[in-house]
Amino acid sequence: MDRRRFLGSTVFGASALAFGSVWSQATPGVGAPTPVAVGHRRLKVGAMEVIALNDGVFRRLLGEEFVTNAPLEQVKALLASQGMPTDYIDIPVTPFLVVSGNRRILMDAGFADNGPPTTGRLRANMEAAGFKPEDITDVVISHYHGDHINGLRAKDGTFIYPRAKVHVPAPEHAFWMDDARMNAAPPAMRGAFQAVRRTIGALPADQLVRFEPGATLAPGIVSSAAFGHTPGMCVFQVSSEGQNFHYVADVTNIPALFARSPDWAAVFDMDANMARATRRRIFDALVKDRALAGGYHFPFPALGTMEVAGNGYQFKPLA
Ligand SMILES: [Zn+2]
Repeated sequence: MDRRRFLGSTVFGASALAFGSVWSQATPGVGAPTPVAVGHRRLKVGAMEVIALNDGVFRRLLGEEFVTNAPLEQVKALLASQGMPTDYIDIPVTPFLVVSGNRRILMDAGFADNGPPTTGRLRANMEAAGFKPEDITDVVISHYHGDHINGLRAKDGTFIYPRAKVHVPAPEHAFWMDDARMNAAPPAMRGAFQAVRRTIGALPADQLVRFEPGATLAPGIVSSAAFGHTPGMCVFQVSSEGQNFHYVADVTNIPALFARSPDWAAVFDMDANMARATRRRIFDALVKDRALAGGYHFPFPALGTMEVAGNGYQFKPLA
């Protein structure tokens, strides 16, 4: 990849706005999102089990900045055409747990008690599905945005998964742990770098495992590069007995916007052009294989397939 792209203004332009406020508190004036009543959804993938775990949902006022390359009226029109509200965006947060033999592999970590009040339900929903944080043997991190990593460590400093190896993409780690880059970032972006240091950076050395994109993380669990949303984001394929599950992390933010109109860029996409190319490449492959996918910001239970729709894609939730 061309790392210089991420040193330019694209990285910190729109994203700095996105990270300044989104995870701090509920947005005033737009109410609170309705919690999803169902906390988990189990699915067999060959001899493995994949469990979608609901961490909650956060609401963000829909302004001009959310889609960086389309007029707000067009964004609202696409939402309205799907019967969705147009004043705000509700963004669900769904980590996945893969149960494989004696491994309990959590994919991304939610917020714990560090996020908006309508999030942080992962632990309770995991326990309702039969697993305690101490049972987790591995946490696999797709990328270092706060909604994916903050849940590794509670506000009081406690590490939530004391026995887990935490697997992180090496290029993502190199980007965010670079102090010179943090110091050069706009003030609104600095919190994102500090969150990485509070969670990943503070992990005991024997818990942190850096992997190169393409690496096999556990039997039947293979990573691959999905750069663009962040410099080193990875996605994961889970395979057992001829069945597959694709965890696509933030290849799209909410599919109602960025699957339907995949060339639009969410304010969180750090390199919009690379993110768009990655989105189309991965969604084309999902369509071709009629593959089962899980997305971190898909509507809960965040499991389903992708179909071609017009110039984009339509997410079809699992029945
Ligand atoms: Zn995210």
